[in-house]
Amino acid sequence: DGEMHAAARQQSQLENELRVALDEGQLLFHYQPQLDISGRQVIGGEALVRWQHPERGMLAPGHFIGAAESSGLVVELGELALRCACRQVRDWIAQGLPPTRVAVNISPRQFRSSRLVESVAEALRESGIPPHLLELEITESMMLDEIESTKERLEGLHALGVDLTIDDFGTGYSCLAYLKHFPVQRLKIDKSFVDGVTEDADTAAIVEAVVRLGHSLRMRVLAEGIETGAQQARLQALGCDEVQGYYFGRPVSPETFAADLAARSELMAS
Ligand code: C2E
Ligand code: MG
Ligand code: MG
Repeated sequence: DGEMHAAARQQSQLENELRVALDEGQLLFHYQPQLDISGRQVIGGEALVRWQHPERGMLAPGHFIGAAESSGLVVELGELALRCACRQVRDWIAQGLPPTRVAVNISPRQFRSSRLVESVAEALRESGIPPHLLELEITESMMLDEIESTKERLEGLHALGVDLTIDDFGTGYSCLAYLKHFPVQRLKIDKSFVDGVTEDADTAAIVEAVVRLGHSLRMRVLAEGIETGAQQARLQALGCDEVQGYYFGRPVSPETFAADLAARSELMAS
């Protein structure tokens, strides 16, 4: 009982701090590059939230996303992510960098929120960026709720011109039958499959099947969490289109991401 009380107290303290963090601008976003399978060209970046905590330093989402979700603050966090990502794309273009797509993670609670479509439209409107430069990452479990309202929601987003990706594909409760009804452009193979792809034949077989499935439904397939050249080579052989992982680049500040983009585009030009 005492332990439960302590846990509950800790949880509510975290929620209070998170509320302050949102109000005082302690949440920021790092960007991790996504590349074509050859690893030569950056095709986009994933926005990943960080909490610049006044005492605890820079916190990864694992420390607070759960509390954000259960308290409902994740809706606000998600809207901030959309605004920041769209402004970031706009600023990079204004700096003369090649237009680069940014992927934003949508949480289950945000996905169910009635403000979802409007908040995406608003972020696009405010920044003025072409909608195809924004991508939304959703997970399989979000699509299980009610098929009709999910479909309506996804179609609402699709109608805005943004791309939709299924994150962590293969780790949740899949609804393969519904995939064909939903306007999804990309599947993201989870790191747990990438980890085993070079050593385990069964894992490689699953990856190959996911690639085939994605391609037959006219989707692109991106693998995430790549840490070695051997993994990249295996994924390329299995037909993956795109990659993301520490092997190519860690999540970095927008300034560092932009500097890297600039260096690469100069290299391409020369
Ligand atoms: P995710 O969307 O699947 O993001 C990928 C996570 O894997 C990121 O962790 C990234 O830093 C990490 N990662 C990428 N490549 C590698 C690699 O090669 N090796 C290893 N070990 N890890 C790699 P991060 O930034 O800690 O984010 C964790 C999760 O938090 C995300 O998983 C996502 O579900 C959630 N999240 C992050 N930002 C947001 C956000 O703005 N909104 C919402 N709703 N969720 C977010
Ligand atoms: Mg993601
Ligand atoms: Mg993922």
